[in-house]
Amino acid sequence: MDFNGKVAVVTGGAHGIGRAVSLGFARHGARVVVVDRDAEAGEAVAAEIGKSAIFRQADVTRAADVEAFVQAALDNFGAIDCFHNNAGIEGKVAPTAEYEEAVFDAVMGVNVKGVFLGLRHVLPVMIRQGRGAVVNTASIAGLVGTVGMPAYVASKHAVIGLTKVAAGEVGPQGIRVNAICPGPIATRMVQDIAKQVSPNNPEGVEERYAASLPLRRYGTPEEVANLVLFLCSDLAGNITGAQYVVDGGRTAV
Ligand code: NAD
Repeated sequence: MDFNGKVAVVTGGAHGIGRAVSLGFARHGARVVVVDRDAEAGEAVAAEIGKSAIFRQADVTRAADVEAFVQAALDNFGAIDCFHNNAGIEGKVAPTAEYEEAVFDAVMGVNVKGVFLGLRHVLPVMIRQGRGAVVNTASIAGLVGTVGMPAYVASKHAVIGLTKVAAGEVGPQGIRVNAICPGPIATRMVQDIAKQVSPNNPEGVEERYAASLPLRRYGTPEEVANLVLFLCSDLAGNITGAQYVVDGGRTAV
């Protein structure tokens, strides 16, 4: 995969999957705009990459912030070839019958409205360019239910819907839009979910879950990054409107 001369924008780029994707794009030659609400960690990722990266602080639920990072990409690097629309939150683990309305709104705000705003402001740039590739981060929770995570599951199903619609709209202009569906990946997010499920023994939750997977382990952020880079690359030239699992076999059996 060769991203020399290409510009990649990654939301949620300060930690976990987005961090691995930012570093991966840079390793393969892209200039990278790291976007996150966590300025300290985001600056650190950009510094680790060096001169070919910038960091922009943004809350993806705010249209003005999204417009600002899109403009920063254009001002600094002149284009957006690849967009990983990835920032997301897990919300609380609680049954639907007890789920807090405010938490539901917060999860939908970041995971659905945030992804929509990313598409809303990046696609016009790609349409003007006549090229581009977008990868939205959904989840296996966008394909099957997870008991106790109604907002997260609803939000990730919505990401797959947004992906299909956008792919249909901008395909004729040479722009591809796909979704990825990671299973359990070793990041802060799964640690937080395990702590919510069992505050006294989160490691036990993770061990039991890992043991239930065909590959018997959580995936790594780098393994997800490999899929994102592939989908953004010319190797995936005929792939759009699709969703790809990277889940250690979780949804297969
Ligand atoms: P993470 O918590 O390590 O990273 C999420 C990043 O998004 C953080 O850097 C955070 O600061 C940022 N972020 C959150 N809200 C934001 C906002 N409003 N504006 C800007 N940035 C914001 O978790 P991760 O596991 O790397 O998650 C990345 C994506 O992958 C999420 O969309 C998540 O739902 C999805 N995902 C993760 C897993 C997993 O097992 N870890 C599985 C499936 C899908």
